[in-house]
Amino acid sequence: MADFIDRVVLHVTGGNGGHGCVSVHREKFKPLGGPDGGNGGNGGDVRLVADGNVHTLLDFHHRPHQKAGNGKPGMGSHRNGANGEGLTLRVPPGTVVATQSGEVLADLAVAGSEYTVAPGGRGGLGNAALASSRRKAPGFALLGEPGEETTVVLELKSVADVGLVGFPSAGKSSLISVISAARPKIADYPFTTLVPNLGVVQAGQFTFTVADVPGLIPGAAQGKGLGLEFLRHVERTSVLVHVVDCATLEPGRDPLSDIDALTKELDEYGDLAGRAGIVALTKIDVPEARELAEFITPDLRERGFEVFAISAVTHEGLDALTFALGAAVERYRLAHPIEEAPRVVIRPKAIGEDEFSVRPDPQSPGGFIVEGTKPVRWIRQTDFTNDEAVGFLADRLAKLGVEAELAREGALPGCDVTIGDVSFGWEPTAESVAGEMGVVAFGHRGTDPRLEAAETRARVSADERRAAKRGRRIPYELKESDGYEIEEPDER
Ligand code: GDP
Ligand code: MG
Repeated sequence: MADFIDRVVLHVTGGNGGHGCVSVHREKFKPLGGPDGGNGGNGGDVRLVADGNVHTLLDFHHRPHQKAGNGKPGMGSHRNGANGEGLTLRVPPGTVVATQSGEVLADLAVAGSEYTVAPGGRGGLGNAALASSRRKAPGFALLGEPGEETTVVLELKSVADVGLVGFPSAGKSSLISVISAARPKIADYPFTTLVPNLGVVQAGQFTFTVADVPGLIPGAAQGKGLGLEFLRHVERTSVLVHVVDCATLEPGRDPLSDIDALTKELDEYGDLAGRAGIVALTKIDVPEARELAEFITPDLRERGFEVFAISAVTHEGLDALTFALGAAVERYRLAHPIEEAPRVVIRPKAIGEDEFSVRPDPQSPGGFIVEGTKPVRWIRQTDFTNDEAVGFLADRLAKLGVEAELAREGALPGCDVTIGDVSFGWEPTAESVAGEMGVVAFGHRGTDPRLEAAETRARVSADERRAAKRGRRIPYELKESDGYEIEEPDER
């Protein structure tokens, strides 16, 4: 049958990472033991896997929103939260994954290939994991990151499993409309005048596609009408069904000779008649049609056909027909298995993990935007209501070189710096920055007279913290910290 495109828009969300836990070990006689807050679990990924036993995208027509499980938060006594459950979505081999603007993300051409379409968020580290020799008892933990949320388009270019053949007005289109659960888009169809109808049918455990074959008339195999073109496509279906109108026969025609005529065309074209072992006698809601159907059924059975009397109006006989079609398609699939290829894992384009970039902010004169996987992730991991957490963020950014790069790009103290969805007034700290700026304005690490204590942190006023909670602009200052080593926890 004609090539067509089964197309669905799928909304997927990775699971959220669990938050890290802030906890201090307590025992009798040892009221303040070490920090023992565990890490949050990672959110589950949403993966697409090509599976030879899946033949349509019907499941996603029914359920276009899919989300993986969230990671559990960390707990005291070094207990880590459980990872969220991953979600595996099975698609037919040949499914192409693209963005809504048409950029191809993955081509799951062979069974076994897989693509992580929405990674889960990383769990946040608990305060135990954040402790270091200089930071013995961190009073903060990292937040779990939200899972990635994305909308993709799945497209499967394929050939219909079942082709309906029959004279014009036999009831082919009506039959498809009453048995199909979804109507994929017809694509690349070489005919402009006649467009086949196409539907996805679900019958018990069977799912298959059905298309009608318009224009098949006596003489088609010799090129009469558009018949030859259609027959060329019929060649690729696995099952053909004769649809026979029992109600409105013109004088001089009868069901048996109709079937004979079309069988002759199929055979002349190329031995296709053997695929047409099923006959659907339609319109039996009309009393004369029912009589005629009952009359000719024994004859057809004798010729080796499976026979079903149906009505698109009353839906009589449709279940039996669709189950028989499903079973026939299944027999064909078992005889022509899709080869399972070695597992192919398609990963999203790797973004340099360590890289970040600084560019002027077009929205804010004198301001800058910092982009990069790590800085943006760190922002998401930061609890802006916790001063210590904000200080930790400042240290991480300085250590990665973000401050130095800002200075090189000409950022001036007080200018707006935006990372992810957070903006703040920039207050440079590290001496490298001062050097870069040609001034010694900030003293050496640990000697800034403005430092009140060893553990100085970014200052966030109560108002600003409330603003942070509401997700608004947060003008906090990144200030010189105590200069301790930041042991970047294992990359998670
Ligand atoms: P196609 O040319 O084979 O696609 O035939 P259609 O599905 O367009 O149907 C042709 C005509 O038959 C239409 O007027 C339909 O309403 C009618 N028809 C189709 N199926 C039935 C049926 O089961 N019962 C009755 N009474 N009419 C039907
Ligand atoms: Mg039609």
